Amino acid sequence: MGTKVDLVIVGGGIVGLAHAYMALRKGLKVLLFEREHTPVGASIRNFGLIWPIGQEPGPDLDRALRSRRHWKDVASSAGFWLNENGSLHLAYHSDELAVLSEFFDANKNTLECSMLSPEEVHDLSPAVKKEGLIGGLWSRTECTVYSRHAIPRLMTWLEEVHGLTVYRGTTVTEVAPPLVKAGGKKWFAEKVLICSGADFETLFPEIYLKENAVKCKLQMMKASSPSLNIGPSLCAGLTLRHYKAFSSCPSLPLLNQRFDREEPRFSIHGIHVLLSQNAEGELIIGDSHEYGQTFLPFDSDEIDQLILDYLKKFTVFSDLRIVERWNGVYPKATGKTACVVKPEENVTIVNCLGGAGMTLSFGLAEEVIHKL
Ligand SMILES: Cc1cc2nc3c(=O)[nH]c(=O)nc-3n(C[C@H](O)[C@H](O)[C@H](O)COP(=O)(O)OP(=O)(O)OC[C@H]3O[C@@H](n4cnc5c(N)ncnc54)[C@H](O)[C@@H]3O)c2cc1C
Repeated sequence: MGTKVDLVIVGGGIVGLAHAYMALRKGLKVLLFEREHTPVGASIRNFGLIWPIGQEPGPDLDRALRSRRHWKDVASSAGFWLNENGSLHLAYHSDELAVLSEFFDANKNTLECSMLSPEEVHDLSPAVKKEGLIGGLWSRTECTVYSRHAIPRLMTWLEEVHGLTVYRGTTVTEVAPPLVKAGGKKWFAEKVLICSGADFETLFPEIYLKENAVKCKLQMMKASSPSLNIGPSLCAGLTLRHYKAFSSCPSLPLLNQRFDREEPRFSIHGIHVLLSQNAEGELIIGDSHEYGQTFLPFDSDEIDQLILDYLKKFTVFSDLRIVERWNGVYPKATGKTACVVKPEENVTIVNCLGGAGMTLSFGLAEEVIHKL
């Protein structure tokens, strides 16, 4: 049992750490509990993409752009790799080019992006397949971190430099401020923030039912370094179906219908394909989306194959050596990009950032801590 702190944070993924960072900057005394001995949740299983271009213009895009600024500050102070490499959305079909052009026309004043010819695309990325390419959308805004390095480093940097106290391997089992029970002991805090990711079951499970929250399982792969720098992170037509940012483009229904005709399994398994490159030059490849409350631990080779086959359609890599396969689970609430809920006085749950937790967390944390 320790002295009373200002804030207890449950969970050491990006959501918990971003809130710890914002609270410590305000001079609060913060204690963070992480159930595992090192973070192993969604925050270290992702592409490491800070991806404002996927966010709908408005408050979400604004939050993403603010997050990006914090990522840059934190990466340079904590000393982890962050690549300001931007993104390229590639078009191999007229409906893909139409969606990209519509998006560009609607957003050219808010985003730093431009439409590129096939030659200009190739100048930016030697990894892009030239055959059949009809254009692309280049955006400067996106960044890449290697999340399995960045997240643990962020945690230790907050401890060493900002005075965060972290209890690893310690599960919080009861929250009733000022009382917090963790690892079989009692602690006292003014306020508690619960950032427990895909664990709906331990603390305030009724809130997740009320929020219609579901979990999503994604399959991912890593390929050994192809000794070629891909330049910007890459994606193609399938990704235009995935992010809200493109949802109001008039040509999107046509693109959707064509993909459903050509390969219905993309829709069935929620597949779209992103390619990022980490600090070691290795390629991070994914992903699929399966929704539910509990997932069997088995990954599907058919899904991996669909992802790799689609990757071949827009990159020059014909024989990648896959060195790792894994899955990750994130929570999502219907119709929202995040849940910020107060189940009782002095307790706030911040969760359900879906597939954009790396992109949104710092910006959201800034807002939440300000209100706290
Ligand atoms: C495969 C995959 C790819 C993705 N790619 C991207 C991407 O490129 N860009 C992007 O913006 N987003 C991406 N996302 C989404 C992003 O990773 C998530 O939104 C984000 O990591 C969620 O962070 P979190 O802190 O809520 O969850 P987590 O990282 O899962 O952290 C929650 C932590 O809480 C701990 N915990 C839970 N309950 C307790 C308890 N009772 N006591 C103590 N500790 C507890 C857990 O052990 C865990 O470490 C991706 C997600 C996945 C799965």
